[in-house]
Amino acid sequence: MVLDLYPKAQAYLQSFVHLFFPHLCLACGTDLVSINTVLCTHCEKNLPFTDLFNIENNRIEKIFWGRVPLNAVSAVLFFTKDSIVQTLIFELKYHQNKKAGWLLGRLIGASIIEADRFNPIDFLVPIPISKKKQRQRGFNQAMIICEGILQVLPALKILPALIKQKSSRSQTHKDRIQRGDQMAQLFELDKSFNLGSAKLLLVDDVITTGATLEAAAACLCQAQPKAISIAAAAYTL
Ligand SMILES: [Zn+2]
Repeated sequence: MVLDLYPKAQAYLQSFVHLFFPHLCLACGTDLVSINTVLCTHCEKNLPFTDLFNIENNRIEKIFWGRVPLNAVSAVLFFTKDSIVQTLIFELKYHQNKKAGWLLGRLIGASIIEADRFNPIDFLVPIPISKKKQRQRGFNQAMIICEGILQVLPALKILPALIKQKSSRSQTHKDRIQRGDQMAQLFELDKSFNLGSAKLLLVDDVITTGATLEAAAACLCQAQPKAISIAAAAYTL
């Protein structure tokens, strides 16, 4: 009897809170049942999935050809302007909505389970942001996405092995080659982690030109891991 009491009290409290703070789907405005997510099941199912995790030599993978050696690359969703995917990414990055990030991470995790070519993975490595940005935002969005992946794949470990270097002066007046050199110096390897012979999954929110991820992967290569793959929440069309 006593054991029964706590969940009942908790359910009662939840419905009481719900009455005054309704929890709505970010896409359609439907009243959500679960307080742990940001989309209703219908809108989650209807997201613009790329379905590329299982496809070798897919269009996202080709971005990195000739730039850095990678095992497998994919993103879960297509990113377009004024879409629900943009809303999810903006919620995570600018409205401190971790639940949006955890949802994106769970979607990556579910895709990885279905894609043999990504497995096995030893460590998730989130793309870091600068200390200044992290202070402003309160967290690193790629880390939140990694936490979402762990909700689906709890045996994996997150290894923050990359450190973002302080950004130098504005890049607008520099030519492309100089910018390229700078990209390579964007990240520093945290040598306290032993990545030798490990299989790594680099995790980011959005892939656009791939320049940031290329620089991060090139930096990780210094540690001579067995393989590096990349998974992002979204790919910009
Ligand atoms: Zn909905």
